[in-house]
Amino acid sequence: MKASRIVVAGSLNADLTIYTERLPSPGETLHGHGFAINPGGKSANQAVSAARLGGNVTLLGAVGSDSNGEMLLASTAGAGVDVSHVRRVSEPTGVAIISVDARGENSIIISAGANGTLSPADMNPELFNGAGVVCLCLEVPLETVQAAAQAGHDAGASVLLNLSPYAAITTELAQLSDVLLVNSHEASQFLDGFIMPAPDAPVAAWLGAVEKFAGRGLHQVLVTLGAAGSMVLDAHNIDNPVVRIAPTAVDAVDTTGAGDAFTGAVAARLAAGSTLVEAARYASVAAALAATKKGTQTAYPSGTEVDAILQ
Ligand code: ATP
Repeated sequence: MKASRIVVAGSLNADLTIYTERLPSPGETLHGHGFAINPGGKSANQAVSAARLGGNVTLLGAVGSDSNGEMLLASTAGAGVDVSHVRRVSEPTGVAIISVDARGENSIIISAGANGTLSPADMNPELFNGAGVVCLCLEVPLETVQAAAQAGHDAGASVLLNLSPYAAITTELAQLSDVLLVNSHEASQFLDGFIMPAPDAPVAAWLGAVEKFAGRGLHQVLVTLGAAGSMVLDAHNIDNPVVRIAPTAVDAVDTTGAGDAFTGAVAARLAAGSTLVEAARYASVAAALAATKKGTQTAYPSGTEVDAILQ
């Protein structure tokens, strides 16, 4: 079966990362060690992850007419992503200022820049024709995310919404989303403080979360749990509404962008016809491999590397 096309609509950022022993307190200046500028932004990362794994990916976004914009176009196109609909604008390319401490803990500030110019008018329904999967995150204006979700829905695509960075969304956007991807923190925020059960809690404990999400119009939800793996919550699957995906054991070096590797891999496998559980199992391996190398996009694995572990 031929995989369907994936449209990723959203953000591209230059990640400006500085490494430091500990994160500074307010008003404090610290000496760091090492500085790197790398391609990032949740949508660019997700597009690269899906393309590396064999997905046929089109990215809709905006970058500035600056060197960071060049870097991002080169990295995404280099992974095989169609970037012909990424606009060049006069605003600077979006940036993320990232501090990483000795324990791998990070703090991040994002400046949207060009990402903030991505508008509903950019979500031309024609660009979604023939798409099987549409992949969205919240690093661009919410009305643009909603327009993309509507265009994807109207094209008959499966709409994946990564609720990150967390923001309250409209009921309409929730109902247009076929699959929600959240970490446990975002899940609790979305469900008004409902605490996610522990990863090893009995299935019955997770059924409460399935019900809560379904009550908000979300029937298929993937909850990522970092090194503890992930959960597939599927209210449509009467026999198996909760499936635990065990983590893939690796020596993690840098988990930055593991969530995006996971989301891109889910998009790639759903576009290839996998079930949600199959896609989550595959994504779990892809994200774990991504955590074994420094960086985000440059650390993402190929399909051959994932297959070698799955066999
Ligand atoms: P980020 O925003 O940093 O990308 P996130 O909070 O969205 O992260 P996580 O839940 O941290 O996402 O990670 C996504 C997935 O990556 C997990 O569900 C798991 O499958 C995999 N993963 C993350 N960290 C590890 C690890 N240390 N070992 C194995 N797998 C990991």
